[in-house]
Amino acid sequence: MIVNKTVLVIEDHELNMKLVRAYLEIGSYEVLEAVDAETGIQLAREHHPDLILMDIQLPGMDGLSATRVIKDDQAIRDIPVVAFTGYAMAGDKQTAMEAGCIAHITKPIGLDDFLEAVAQCLDHRDPEDSPDKEDE
Ligand code: MN
Repeated sequence: MIVNKTVLVIEDHELNMKLVRAYLEIGSYEVLEAVDAETGIQLAREHHPDLILMDIQLPGMDGLSATRVIKDDQAIRDIPVVAFTGYAMAGDKQTAMEAGCIAHITKPIGLDDFLEAVAQCLDHRDPEDSPDKEDE
């Protein structure tokens, strides 16, 4: 039995969420949705998705803080988190990486580029888990 990969999307913007869900479903991913960080962290703990797509600007706890919470939690820290934001500035990308994100996807994005980025992020392995990972 083939189990599709599950992507948790934490995004408060309704239209962005609809678009991302549609994209992910075209890519045959299972989608979990949260409109705030607290709910997203809870879903991550309950379902242990294969990837988390994290909006940075969220009501209440922001996406960077949420990423830090996830990376401090032994049970879910292995889940790759990808920053998903409208900001394309290098400084924001740097901040996201420092918080523990493995990559940064900039909104808006087309279907093909999005699915390619998601596939690449799913291939990501923590360097500690794969000693023979080659440097890029
Ligand atoms: Mn937002």
